[in-house]
Amino acid sequence: MTVGNVQQRIQHIENKIQEACDRTGRDRSEVTIVAVTKQVSATRASEVLAADIHNLGENRSEGLLEKQEDITNGAIWHFIGNVQSRKVKDIIDRIDYLHSVDRLSIIKEIQKRATKTIDCFVQVNVSGEASKSGISPSELQQFIEEAAAYDKIRIVGLMTMAPFTEDQEIIRQVFRSLRELRDEMAAQQWKHAPCTKLSMGMSNDYIIAIEEGATHVRIGTALVGAESEVDT
Ligand SMILES: *Cc1c(COP(=O)(O)O)cnc(C)c1O
Repeated sequence: MTVGNVQQRIQHIENKIQEACDRTGRDRSEVTIVAVTKQVSATRASEVLAADIHNLGENRSEGLLEKQEDITNGAIWHFIGNVQSRKVKDIIDRIDYLHSVDRLSIIKEIQKRATKTIDCFVQVNVSGEASKSGISPSELQQFIEEAAAYDKIRIVGLMTMAPFTEDQEIIRQVFRSLRELRDEMAAQQWKHAPCTKLSMGMSNDYIIAIEEGATHVRIGTALVGAESEVDT
C-alpha cells in the first residue's frame, strides 16, 4: 500500500465522519480517530502519521513495543486490547490511553507499576454477550467509585465493543446505552473520573457510533487495511 492509498482511505473516512457530524449537529473536533495498526507493519503505521493522524492503537504488548522501536515521536499511543496483569508493567509507562480497564486487579497492577497517572476508559459489556469482556452496566458505578482509591488511574470515559450482528439498530442501541451511562457517570463529577469520553465504533460501525456520540473511534482495516493486502 502506498502513502497515497492510506491518504485516500483517510479522506474517505474523513468525509463520512464530517457527514455524520453534520447530520447530528456535532463538531468534527469532538471526534478523534484512533488508527488501529495491530494488523500492519510499523512502516504502514508511519504512513498514517505522515497523513497527520497521530493517535495509534495497538492491542498486544508485543505489537506496541515493536511499533515504538520504529516510531519514536509524534504518536499518541492507545492500548485497546484486553491487558493481561503480567503485561501491565511492560506497557503502562509507554501509553497515553488505556481503553480496556475491566477489573479491579488491573487497576491495582497499574497503581503498582505506573509512574504517572494513566488516562483510562472503563470497558463496559453493554450487550451482555458472555464472550465479551467488560463491566456490566449495573456494576459500573460501584466500580468507578472503587477506582477512586488509586491515584494512578484517571477514568476519562467509557468504551464498548458492538455485538456481532448485521442489525444496525441493535448496534445503535448499544452505543446509545453507553452514551446514557456516560452521561450518568459524568453527572457525578468525580474528581478521579470525569468520564466525558466515549470510545466506540470500529471499521464497520464508526458512523453509527459518531451519530450516537462517540469521541474516539477505533478504526483498523478501513484505514490501514490488513498486511496481506500490501501491494508494494
Ligand atoms: C481490532 C480492533 C479494532 C479495529 O477493528 P477494525 O474492524 O479493523 O476497524 C477496534 N477496537 C478494538 C478493541 C480492536 O481489537
